[in-house]
Amino acid sequence: MLVVPAAGRGDRLGAGRPKALVELAGEPLLLHAVRRAASSGVVDVVIVVCPEGAVDEVTALLGPLRLPDLRVVPGGAQRQESVRRGLLVVDDDVDVVLVHDAARCLTPPDVFVAVVAAVRAGAVAVVPALPVTDTVKRVRGDVVVETVDRSELVAVQTPQGFAPGPLRRAHDAARGTAPATDDAGMLESLGHPVRTVPGAERAFKVTRPLDLVLAEALLNEETP
Ligand code: C5P
Repeated sequence: MLVVPAAGRGDRLGAGRPKALVELAGEPLLLHAVRRAASSGVVDVVIVVCPEGAVDEVTALLGPLRLPDLRVVPGGAQRQESVRRGLLVVDDDVDVVLVHDAARCLTPPDVFVAVVAAVRAGAVAVVPALPVTDTVKRVRGDVVVETVDRSELVAVQTPQGFAPGPLRRAHDAARGTAPATDDAGMLESLGHPVRTVPGAERAFKVTRPLDLVLAEALLNEETP
């Protein structure tokens, strides 16, 4: 089962509409994201968490993909609340839940396959990760406090994969606390080990206008 949080306002993108509905090479970002996820062959049910008031629009938008089971629910003010609302419609008997940001719309299907395989092999939580290329410093205001050892750092992406029970319990435990930016972090705070699998450069998150330019260029390159 796949939960796709797609309810973000997209303020940093500045497109004047929800990010998931911004078009990329003629199609909304969300359509690209769900099509790729579905083509991995490891996703059966797709739960899209959409902007408030956009349930009908999103259902119609994804109709042409002819997904075997599509559920569209309205999201919340924070990503964490949107994912929680998606989890409410996850069936009880599933073995793996994937959570994948609509904004990572070019994520290659093989990343989904690798994450699902790692959960089925026994991991409670799995994240795709890439080495950090920039030098990263901790700052206080505009003063550098320390340079962090880059060899110990990775940047994590989605899809993140989970055993359903621990994911649900982590979301319940995190309600009312400072919102987390990813789901694996919530399991980590409960003491669950989180495994990594190799991420992909193309799984970058469309956040700022420059990301749209890059995503569009990559899509055009793929189209024969
Ligand atoms: O804002 P950010 O880029 O971190 O959002 C990551 C993903 O979470 C996006 O796909 C966005 O649509 C989703 N999101 C959501 N509900 C929110 C905020 C973000 O579903 N309230």
